[in-house]
Amino acid sequence: MDDLKRLKSLAAEIADIQAAIALLGWDQQTYMPSGGAEDRGDALSTLSNLVHQKITSPEMGQLLEDLRSQQDEMDPDSNDARLIKVTRRDYEKRVKVSSEWVKEFAKATTMAHSAWEEARKKSDFSIFQSHLENIVRLRRDYSSFFAPYDHVYDPQLDDFEPGMKTAEVQAIFTQVRPVQVSLIKRITAQTAVDDSFMRAHYDEKAQRDFGVEVISRFGYDWNHGRQDKSAHPFTQGFGIGDVRITTRVEPNRMATALFGTMHEAGHALYELGVDPSLRRTPMASGASMALHESQSRMWENLVGRSLAFWKFFYPRFQGVFHSQVEKVSLATFYRGINKVQPSYIRVEADEATYNLHIMLRLELEIALLEGSLAVKDLPQAWNQRMREYLGVIPPNDALGVLQDVHWSEGLFGYFPTYALGNLVSVQLWEVIQKDLPNLDKQMALGEFGELLSWLRQHVHRFGAKFEPQELVQKITGSKINPQPYLRYLQVKYGEIYHL
Ligand code: ZN
Repeated sequence: MDDLKRLKSLAAEIADIQAAIALLGWDQQTYMPSGGAEDRGDALSTLSNLVHQKITSPEMGQLLEDLRSQQDEMDPDSNDARLIKVTRRDYEKRVKVSSEWVKEFAKATTMAHSAWEEARKKSDFSIFQSHLENIVRLRRDYSSFFAPYDHVYDPQLDDFEPGMKTAEVQAIFTQVRPVQVSLIKRITAQTAVDDSFMRAHYDEKAQRDFGVEVISRFGYDWNHGRQDKSAHPFTQGFGIGDVRITTRVEPNRMATALFGTMHEAGHALYELGVDPSLRRTPMASGASMALHESQSRMWENLVGRSLAFWKFFYPRFQGVFHSQVEKVSLATFYRGINKVQPSYIRVEADEATYNLHIMLRLELEIALLEGSLAVKDLPQAWNQRMREYLGVIPPNDALGVLQDVHWSEGLFGYFPTYALGNLVSVQLWEVIQKDLPNLDKQMALGEFGELLSWLRQHVHRFGAKFEPQELVQKITGSKINPQPYLRYLQVKYGEIYHL
């Protein structure tokens, strides 16, 4: 068998095992009885080791070496050349990290996670402190496997945003911070918007059915997906022909299921739109976390929180939830679902405040890794930034530094992808609006076909073939640029709050 064929066949085997891992993980969070946790953990760990062995095998190393000269002769943007590139990247990253580190990290994060749960419950950071110190040390060691680097944070970021540098992210956020801080100050000086209708009691099944109607109109194909319940909503693909979503319904918080469903459908549409020629390769997924989030945020916010969208859906919404919103006008509803209110909790943050929650975390992560901030001083540094950026100080650590699971799982480099996703969503949106001048009219008729086709053609079909900055540049003519998002925020909230 020639080298390229062998590489493709190995890639397919790896993709198949990863699909099995994904299915076990999906089941764990949806239907598995709690008693199955231990067995499931063992099965998942065995399969993950198998994937690791296959990717880092001497055969793989030799194949990638032998393919170098062939690769040089290929069109660098061809699927074959990209398959070699993406596989080599994964191979090189994995072989650099020692297996002792992997073991120690797995153990440390397992312990840290339960310590974090207890610390959050008791709102006592000291329970988590030594565990986090350990994790920060391990994350620094992780970076050292990739030395030399420009910044100690680069190897962390690269795991989620291939090819992106800390300096690039910092340059972006430096532009975003002052604009959003000032916008929020002006908004909070205005009278608060009435959103009390959002906390009325909404029937669970009716909420789910409404979400199903919305995402069916978006183009989510139920022959290639399904929706189940889970404690934390997520999207999981098992190849590109079966990408499922989950949702959580809260009777007194109708935004949770409604916007959460649109969000997850955005993730699913991305993976369902990957070109079939990338099936069973490491490219059959999104380009990066930020690109993935750009898709979920687009459907959730740019579509789902727009006035055009609700021109079509609001009469239907009022029909279903008559008693809750019969006296609420479309204008009031629109203002309510777009209410800006600085709050302690990231996952509940609105479009105008969300990025600031992320910036705070990014700055603290970087300071911890650089060693300019000690873990013991983290709660204080957190609260100080909350006051500076959002004008609120959490009353306790459970509502502050202990709110997110990420650090307890050793996830460093992940947070910025949320904010980058917001920025990319609007950067793409500006191009879409030029290409589809009737988009607002279409949305007001409940039609999203042209939008989805555009996304498939320009974003989805490429899967992970290109690095995130490369893809954004290809589509918009520049790398990730925060200006479209800042323009969008100022126009939208300028109107809503009469600024
Ligand atoms: Zn998401």
